[in-house]
Amino acid sequence: SQNAVEGQTFTIATDTTWAPFEFERDGELRGIDIDLINAVAENQGFNVEIDVLGFDGALAAVQAGQADAVMAGMSITDERKEIFDFSNPYFDSGIQMAVSTKDNETKSYEDLAGKTVSAKTGTEGYAYAETLGQEIGFTVTGFQDASDAYSDVTSGGSVAVFDDYPILAYGINTGNVDLQIVTPQEKASSYGMGVKKGENLELREAFNEGLKNLIEDGTYQAILDDYLGGDA
Ligand code: GLN
Repeated sequence: SQNAVEGQTFTIATDTTWAPFEFERDGELRGIDIDLINAVAENQGFNVEIDVLGFDGALAAVQAGQADAVMAGMSITDERKEIFDFSNPYFDSGIQMAVSTKDNETKSYEDLAGKTVSAKTGTEGYAYAETLGQEIGFTVTGFQDASDAYSDVTSGGSVAVFDDYPILAYGINTGNVDLQIVTPQEKASSYGMGVKKGENLELREAFNEGLKNLIEDGTYQAILDDYLGGDA
């Protein structure tokens, strides 16, 4: 089969450690985003070079034309649609708050009044926290890496962190973070691969085609199960 991207190499910008979507396992970059883009590339006959830039850095690199696409659990928001074209959604997500396992007092958003919370700069979780903070009266501190936003809570700098729930849940379930969830999930945007608006549209089309094929042949579900199934 022939398509517009066959044999081409695309630079895919991604986040630093943000398990289970991108992280190192046995010295190799892995995660749902990484396995999925590699599987799509194989299915559609193109090559990928992965650039680990951090979330803000990944979006900036694609805008600057230094990378072809963002694959980093990137939420398809109306604001971003002004400057990115998105693939079809590949994962439904949501935002959630977490507090320290030692914290028996913070049980609701109202308990955040007058305090400081953390979030990752440039994310939907950050924007959610900021809007809520204006309503309730708390401050949001931004961090480039999720791990720093999380450890600000365990070290007592912030009383809570806001992030996408699959990342919080994975950290908690794997025992990697001493956080607990005390409030319900908030609905947020699904994830898509983003290209600079009007550019690399053949890559976006190939992604959509590949994703459809991988959903049909079970590969997509197998990738999710690898990271989210059982006691992952
Ligand atoms: N889904 C969130 C967003 O797009 C966070 C992505 C991330 O931190 N990699 O804003």
